[in-house]
Amino acid sequence: MSDDEIATRIQTIHARIDAAVAIAGRDRANVDLLAVTKFHPASSVEAALLAGQRLFGENRVQEAETKFPPLRERWPDLRLHLIGGLQTNKALAACRVADVIETLDRPSLSDAIARAGDRLGILPDLFVQVNTGDEPQKAGIPREQASAFIAECREKFGAKVRGLMCIPPENEDPRPHFRWLAALAGEHGLATLSMGMSGDFEAAIAEGATLVRVGSAIFGPRPRTGTGDTDTVP
Ligand SMILES: *Cc1c(COP(=O)(O)O)cnc(C)c1O
Repeated sequence: MSDDEIATRIQTIHARIDAAVAIAGRDRANVDLLAVTKFHPASSVEAALLAGQRLFGENRVQEAETKFPPLRERWPDLRLHLIGGLQTNKALAACRVADVIETLDRPSLSDAIARAGDRLGILPDLFVQVNTGDEPQKAGIPREQASAFIAECREKFGAKVRGLMCIPPENEDPRPHFRWLAALAGEHGLATLSMGMSGDFEAAIAEGATLVRVGSAIFGPRPRTGTGDTDTVP
């Protein structure tokens, strides 16, 4: 993918977001685009930065650590979200490299993040990931535990807990999942809803997404995909 092509594709996604926002009768200022750069080289991230993109998503701590600190020196306003399942032993590194961890999904991880925060004296923003399809292999707090877990996290981290995130099951209509997550966020007064990817971000916007995570529709197919794209051991 050439730099020009990446810039053009970002424009196209923005136009599609504009259209989806208009159809939903929502405010365009309330929907942000997160460009998912996992497995793509730093040069692709740079092309997106030159095109004005500032929000990025990575799945793996180690990949984020090699790619992003050098870019931050030149683009201090870029923001990095970690969107992959996170092992507790990577919590400290995750808190160092990321502005937002979108995948807070279990008590052991919230404990590890709290310890990291104590050590670093600073914490990233946090989203709770919910396994809305209750899929056994998937990261995310199960549906029926989500509400109690969100409450626990807010007690521990206060306003650092900013939103919810989900990845609906692949072969299902995602809309009921998006709708359910939006309702849960409403119950907890959480403003940020990270939902929707290349294949379904318009549906997510219709259901209230405030952050859509788009990878392949911008950067093309990933060199590697599948179960390896997370830090959690399956
Ligand atoms: C890879 C990934 C995305 C982007 O997926 P595309 O289908 O390439 O847009 C979004 N969210 C998460 C959590 C991902 O792992």
